Amino acid sequence: MPGTELFGEEERKEVNDVMQTGILMRYTHDQQRNNHWKARDFETEVKKITGAKYAHAASSGSTALATALASAGIGAGDEVIVPPFTFIASVEAVLFVGALPVFADIDETLCLSADGIKKAITSKTKAICLVHMCGGMADMDGIIDICTKNNLILVEDAGQAFAASYKGKSVGLFGKAGAYSFDFFKIATAGEGGVLVTDDERVYKHAETYSDHGHTHIGNNRGMEQHPIIGFNYRISELNAAVGVAQTRKVPAILEKNRFNKKILMAELSKTSGISFSKLPDPAGDSATFLNILLPDTEAAKRTVGELNAAGVGGFNYWFTNMYHFINQWDHLKEMRTASKLPVQVLGAPQNYATMQLPKSQEVVGRLISFGIRCTWTEQEMKTLAAKISEAVTKALKPVTI
Ligand SMILES: *Cc1c(COP(=O)(O)O)cnc(C)c1O
Repeated sequence: MPGTELFGEEERKEVNDVMQTGILMRYTHDQQRNNHWKARDFETEVKKITGAKYAHAASSGSTALATALASAGIGAGDEVIVPPFTFIASVEAVLFVGALPVFADIDETLCLSADGIKKAITSKTKAICLVHMCGGMADMDGIIDICTKNNLILVEDAGQAFAASYKGKSVGLFGKAGAYSFDFFKIATAGEGGVLVTDDERVYKHAETYSDHGHTHIGNNRGMEQHPIIGFNYRISELNAAVGVAQTRKVPAILEKNRFNKKILMAELSKTSGISFSKLPDPAGDSATFLNILLPDTEAAKRTVGELNAAGVGGFNYWFTNMYHFINQWDHLKEMRTASKLPVQVLGAPQNYATMQLPKSQEVVGRLISFGIRCTWTEQEMKTLAAKISEAVTKALKPVTI
């Protein structure tokens, strides 16, 4: 993934700043830290790229999302619409704030669709946890309209879509709060880390307080602050934040390269019949971390995966069967296997997770193969890859002769 491809001197410099003072914590120790505030700098860099009014760094994308949900007022017993195609953290975050996930269909955008959401809304629906998948963005106009008409709180899991936008506005800023991940597999990495963004001061204050045991961080004596709410420890360390600073500064360059590379691959592949692409409601806002191809049907996609493997082509995901991103592989959720009782087990799930039907999601994810875009590819490498993909698809779609 792009961030990890460009790990170097800049990251080492930021980390060394922290190593020289030994102040590994983001708060206080003002005298000893030699004016290094890496978590704050990380937040500043994220604000620069997204245009967010407020940003708060956390220990992971998952904890940033849980903080976003809680700070937006979503908690025990609240029904929250979620997609069946996402990294499972989105669903876990809803469960762990005590809320009740309700699954709705995605469409060719790979995200929840206005149509899918409409079908899942009941009088009990409180919020939508919208996930921007595979580097792209959801079709926001229709979704915003539904939220407004039904008085729903929107929280965005933009874990895989940092630097993506829709009609000029960064994803993550359309609802009450949004969260980005900077884990090892994202466009930029902090090793482990996440950043919550919001334009709402009250949500930001809650987030900042919630993710550090309720401390307000007013003044420079952390032992003597007020504790307006109960919180927990979702803090990022200065070491991770330092890496995040250097990586986030590289994102504009990564973005440009990703988009350039994706364009080349798409131009090559669109010549092959049988290949179409996932829908981007705003192509100009794509973070271009993934090339998402759609085959005519699930069987064709499975045969293509077989051909790709036979040809030794790596670097792709077939989420339908392989990965931890689709409901078909979430048996632990369907059987509600937990370490200890969650509110959903006491209150009852609003849906039967084992038997519910999401036909459109099954169809779309069945047809989808995603290739990770590398920002360090040469033109020749891309041409070779495109040729191999085309060949695999052509073989997979060849009529069977008896
Ligand atoms: C990566 C990711 C997360 C979780 O992020 P972590 O930093 O690994 O906790 C959440 N949601 C989505 C959609 C992701 O891709």
